[in-house]
Amino acid sequence: MQNQFNNAPVHTAPPPLIEVSGSCYEMGRQIGEAAREPIQKSVASARALIAATVDKLQLDWEQAKLQSRKYLPFAEEKYPQYVDELRGIAAGANLAFDDLVTLNVMEAVTMDALHLTRCTSFAVSQERSENGHVYAAHNEDWTPDDEDGVMVISARPEKEPPFLAMTYGGLLSNVGFNAHGIAQLINSVYPIDARIGIPRLVVSRAVLAAKRISGAMGRILIDHREAGYNHLLVHESGEMYSVEASARKFEVLSTTDGTLTHTNHYLDPQMKLVEKNSYELLSSRVRYFRACRLLRQKEKHTLESLQAIQKDHVNFPNSICNHNMREDHPLDCEKTINALVIDLTAREMHLAWGNPCQNQYYTYRLNA
Ligand SMILES: [Zn+2]
Repeated sequence: MQNQFNNAPVHTAPPPLIEVSGSCYEMGRQIGEAAREPIQKSVASARALIAATVDKLQLDWEQAKLQSRKYLPFAEEKYPQYVDELRGIAAGANLAFDDLVTLNVMEAVTMDALHLTRCTSFAVSQERSENGHVYAAHNEDWTPDDEDGVMVISARPEKEPPFLAMTYGGLLSNVGFNAHGIAQLINSVYPIDARIGIPRLVVSRAVLAAKRISGAMGRILIDHREAGYNHLLVHESGEMYSVEASARKFEVLSTTDGTLTHTNHYLDPQMKLVEKNSYELLSSRVRYFRACRLLRQKEKHTLESLQAIQKDHVNFPNSICNHNMREDHPLDCEKTINALVIDLTAREMHLAWGNPCQNQYYTYRLNA
């Protein structure tokens, strides 16, 4: 089986760290300039994916742009600063604003036909770690084409808390943590009540500016959201919550054993009622139970034991360390493009670029 893992690229250097500051527009522009090539490439990849699947989606890029525009007024009304951030990214990367917006609203306009974000997230409190630190871990599963565009953003916004986040290509930052000790990990879920509203990437970008856990929840559950993710919120105090959201419903899950796991299906019985295509989420269920079991197997975890869970290959290739690269199914082709462990106590992020079974972790510190 070992040779099956060799289809995963090996990166010999850490992903780029992009340090930005100022207004959201200004930060976006700095990101766009620093990562012009991968951002342009991510838009080109999205266009190619839409073109390759036009029969199934009944949608070409021009129609996708037309659809995407409908979401903008909702985002402008509640979060104009993050729309400005998108404007800045587009300007810095020499891209049309419409194209970048379409990239950021892709999940909505394709009606989730692109079942790509099969991520795995878990967290442990200080009671369950050997050194008393609070950890939040996340495997980001996405199209293999976007792996080259992975980057770490260290941001000092002029009106919001500093944050450290992982992103790729031209997507708004959303997985990361801020100077108030709040981390957010996101997993796609598939609600039936999606509508035109505030795009989920804009909603999750806003969470990085939260000062309190309840404030982070309020940002997730904002009125007129387009759909929802599962947001795993972890606070440096060891409080951790899974906020399962759809466009109109939500549930907040917590834990009594100091660990919390989430993948791509709803866990709450009420939320299951608004989940579509549950039958397609079988590998999500396997990853969920597998991660829960591996977390239970150790009373006290270390950075290394959490990273070992991220490298797990049970149910390969749809494993926690995801290697599902079937070239013949572009809608389902995906892999783990990075794995990260946030140490909220030390304010550090340890990130492996690509599949963590093949790549070493690099450490980034929050600049606050
Ligand atoms: Zn692997």
